[in-house]
Amino acid sequence: MLSIKNLQAGIEGKDILKGINLDIKPGEVHAIMGPNGSGKSTLASVLAGRQDYEVTGGSVEFNGKDLLEFSPEQRAGEGLFLAFQYPVEIPGLSTVNFMKTAVNEVRKYRGEEPLDAVAFLKLMKEKMALVNISKELLTRSLNEGFSGGEKKRNEVFQMAMLEPKLAILDETDSGLDIDAIRIAAHGVNAIRTKDNAVLVITHYQRLLDYIVPDFVHVLYNGRIVKSGTKELALELEETGYDQIKSDYQFA
Ligand code: ADP
Ligand code: MG
Ligand code: MG
Repeated sequence: MLSIKNLQAGIEGKDILKGINLDIKPGEVHAIMGPNGSGKSTLASVLAGRQDYEVTGGSVEFNGKDLLEFSPEQRAGEGLFLAFQYPVEIPGLSTVNFMKTAVNEVRKYRGEEPLDAVAFLKLMKEKMALVNISKELLTRSLNEGFSGGEKKRNEVFQMAMLEPKLAILDETDSGLDIDAIRIAAHGVNAIRTKDNAVLVITHYQRLLDYIVPDFVHVLYNGRIVKSGTKELALELEETGYDQIKSDYQFA
């Protein structure tokens, strides 16, 4: 589904990703861990197509197509979802109306008719139940005055609504309380099927107690320096990142 080969990228002339290789197949959950400043968010941003990052080498194929050629909107149409891609607060725009536009844009990209009001409502009800979000939250202005947990719930709802083939979650290192972890994990576990895949990016092991990954990769200094199963995450919790840093300081 996703095949990253020797991906190199940077920002403002600074090299950040120095040759990333990663293959993700349908049904798999991959976790990327690593110390602060390793390039985790840069990888997520490059996959999402954020314009400020420059790809300097390598390739990314998504469902056999060159992902790097696509705009962020086309990537969404192809079935890529990046949590935190819409963190903006939009006064006057409710989550419901925002979602209607987002869902129908993806359908249009795929050559499908837009959902009418009845069909959209049906889809919404189904996904609301799936991720356990309240009607009250959905009718408020997008993200305006939302607590951390409410933003997370909203994000997870967006993910469920768009039914992505590959969902990428970049869990920022701060402000991820146990509530938000549980919400994120519940959402991811609810949308998992044998046909879609999830890439969870996190600094902390504890998220992986709730979203159990098939594979864990350690990103350090712009490279994946170690890969393994969930045992690797537990090992890292024991040792911290100091061992990785001293083992790979000249990598
Ligand atoms: P992580 O998510 O693993 O903490 P990031 O991808 O955020 O790492 O950052 C990787 C490196 O790139 C860091 O050294 C960071 O300072 C640098 N970096 C990230 N964004 C920018 C930017 N907009 N301008 C300059 N340097 C940046
Ligand atoms: Mg960071
Ligand atoms: Mg980060």
